[in-house]
Amino acid sequence: MKPSVLFDLSGSVAIVTGGARGLGKIIALALADAGADVVIADILTSLAEDVVKEIEARGNRALGVKLDVTSVNDVQEMVEKVSNHFGRIDILINNAGIQCISAAEDFALEDWNRVVNINLSGVFLCTQAVGKIMITQKKGKIINISSLFGTIGSPHGAAAYNSSKGGVINLTKSLAVEWGKYNINVNAIAPGIIETELTRKRLEDKEYLDLWIDRTPLERIGKPEDLSGAVIYLSSGASDFVTGHTIMIDGGYSVQ
Ligand code: NAD
Repeated sequence: MKPSVLFDLSGSVAIVTGGARGLGKIIALALADAGADVVIADILTSLAEDVVKEIEARGNRALGVKLDVTSVNDVQEMVEKVSNHFGRIDILINNAGIQCISAAEDFALEDWNRVVNINLSGVFLCTQAVGKIMITQKKGKIINISSLFGTIGSPHGAAAYNSSKGGVINLTKSLAVEWGKYNINVNAIAPGIIETELTRKRLEDKEYLDLWIDRTPLERIGKPEDLSGAVIYLSSGASDFVTGHTIMIDGGYSVQ
């Protein structure tokens, strides 16, 4: 099959959680460029509408939905709205996530729960609700945005974040095994450091930035666009026999 056909997402409907800005926005635009109609589901509704307009300007259909991934009601309403609007859901990108930095010995339980609820339980809630639709379709692609820090530790007070992202990698494996029989592919992407609102403050610390670049074989930090190829691959027919895996997009940081 020609690559143009293999990676073509025309006729597919994709949901991107946390699609209003940062990596989610770039992922949403990449999916649209590959032909998909895209739902931008975020707590930041006004920014989400801006992304919807950008996608519509490219000639694709798009829909903005207010979503807090920790709210069972929001998740249910999102699935109903998308099903009513588009009639199907082919791709789910679980991208919404937060960071909270605090020394482990002082980490407040409330902050721990907030991080784990959004980054891990939120992925489960969205996947469970969308998965039910995909099971009836006997087809679906689920892509969870984990992190390099889901595979390693770090000294910067990110125990909750790192644990939640590690959980996402094993949730990905578990669901891949459970839902393979429904022809649903569940994979993850684990980015290294990429400049967005989430990391901007930390990257202003030149020493931290230089250390990071020094330890990365490709000698730079990532750009949001570095995720686009893997997202299209995992969303398309090109990856039909790939499930349960995590693609590291970290400039080679994790292999040395
Ligand atoms: P970001 O803060 O720019 O964007 C996160 C998006 O998620 C925002 O639009 C935000 O409104 C949304 N969001 C937050 N809480 C939500 C909730 N409860 N319900 C719905 N939406 C919610 O961050 P980003 O860097 O674009 O991060 C996107 C994803 O990539 C996150 O899961 C993050 O952990 C992961 N990631 C980022 C990096 C990086 O270096 N930037 C590296 C590895 C993984």
